Amino acid sequence: YSTNASSIEEPIKPTFHVDHTQLLIDGKFVDSASGKTFPTLDPRNGQVIAHVSEGQHEDVDRAVAAARKAFDHGPWPKMTAYERQRILLRAADLLEKHNNELATLETWDNGKPYEQAAEIEVPMLTRLIRYYAGWADKIHGLTVPADGPHQVHTLHEPIGVAGQIIPWNFPLLMFGWKVGPALACGNTIVLKTSEQTPLSALYAAKLFHEAGLPPGVLNIVSGFGPIAGAALASHMDVDKIAFTGSTATGKIILELAAKSNLKAATLELGGKSPFIVCEDADVDQAVELAHFALFFNQGQCCCAGSRTFVHESVYDEFVEKAKARALKRVVGDPFKSGVEQGPQIDSKQFEKILKYINSGVENGATLEAGGEKIGNKGFYIQPTVFSNVQDEMLIAKDEIFGPVQTILKFKEIDEVIRRANNSRFGLAAGIFTKSIDTANTLTRALRVGSVWVNCYDVFDATIPFGGYKMSGQGREKGEYSLKNYLQVKAVVTPLKNPAW
Ligand code: NAD
Repeated sequence: YSTNASSIEEPIKPTFHVDHTQLLIDGKFVDSASGKTFPTLDPRNGQVIAHVSEGQHEDVDRAVAAARKAFDHGPWPKMTAYERQRILLRAADLLEKHNNELATLETWDNGKPYEQAAEIEVPMLTRLIRYYAGWADKIHGLTVPADGPHQVHTLHEPIGVAGQIIPWNFPLLMFGWKVGPALACGNTIVLKTSEQTPLSALYAAKLFHEAGLPPGVLNIVSGFGPIAGAALASHMDVDKIAFTGSTATGKIILELAAKSNLKAATLELGGKSPFIVCEDADVDQAVELAHFALFFNQGQCCCAGSRTFVHESVYDEFVEKAKARALKRVVGDPFKSGVEQGPQIDSKQFEKILKYINSGVENGATLEAGGEKIGNKGFYIQPTVFSNVQDEMLIAKDEIFGPVQTILKFKEIDEVIRRANNSRFGLAAGIFTKSIDTANTLTRALRVGSVWVNCYDVFDATIPFGGYKMSGQGREKGEYSLKNYLQVKAVVTPLKNPAW
């Protein structure tokens, strides 16, 4: 791997002042009821960036009450769709204008390369909000040809107060996936950010208010999962909960939703996605794409291509080249230009990943590259590649959520289908082949929510995303996501003169 060690030892200081650290409730930044705060840390050195107000039960109650009032008494759900659309479009313009400030907060709090935050994540958020602004005035019901003398139509109405809980790996994008469709449909929101990355959503939500979003429509509560998150998921006045995070927490969310008021729930959870390199693949291209599929965002992607299946005829060449590519990966301070990989999010993930690497070695996989931490500051890990990985090894089964590529060998298409599907997850898959027949066979056989053929991680706002099996329930992005935030009301009136 290629490290700029000096950049790790002497982190670049962002010239930026963090202004928003309080809770955002009813259109105002306020302290938590208890006055408590928690530190949010810089993953480059573990130092405190800012102390952030910690939302607890009482704060969640206040935020839900504000969202309830904004829903029940308007104006948001009662505005014309065109008015809502214009506010969302103005918000998107402000996100675009403040692209670099948002990207700075994202990199500082999360550790991802600034160039990726500024050129990929924030522009994707802006694009997404424009996309959902476009939907606001295109949500309409149906006229239903019922049997009998009745005029029947459906109204598509917002569900009400949406509770939303997001993770730390793409704080701004996850914010957008949640608030975009909910706002376009006319819902009001209480969103809980991840305790690791509370900063960027506060800034973005402030911009929505500058754009004219009425108070109480979008409330942001920073805080911890088992306290603030659980209070939101079990709140009796929340009509819908949308969650992105680990499968283990997803189970808790569903349980809390069921035990409280049976609120509707959508879940985006973990994965262990296969990336399948067929015998006819161009090996150089396949190596590059498989590398990107796994290492992007420090390996912290729910849909990371974390089981690289390679056909035996190209396996040796692939392993050599995958190793060479990992050794070339530029690791360093994420604020430095040209850096491909920053630190992991925190010490807990860092330790967990190193443990998985050890288990790979102990279980007999071949460590081709990396395997160690880098430096003594922050949470940097060498880009790591294992070959000779067997299906039953922990590193082939569990979600590592770090820069660890595991390469497995296969012979037959039927065999790789069986092995790829032999997982409790079903989030995504990559297929690399020149044969349309192989692509079609694999596409249909794989039990996953997204298949990328000769590409990976293509995430346009229009494309639905979500999991089969224990990777989740429901779809986000695209038209499909609107369903998560709408009720359908059937309206029936008798026809006076059925002959007409
Ligand atoms: P996590 O489940 O620990 O936390 C996610 C969110 O849930 C955080 O905001 C956290 O505070 C909250 N939370 C934790 N415990 C809670 C509880 N008891 N009640 C209510 N809320 C609670 O996950 P994480 O470590 O932040 O994120 C990593 C995981 O998220 C990975 O497994 C990854 O695959 C998954 N993920 C999935 C997607 C997807 O779209 N499918 C996207 C990103 C991340």
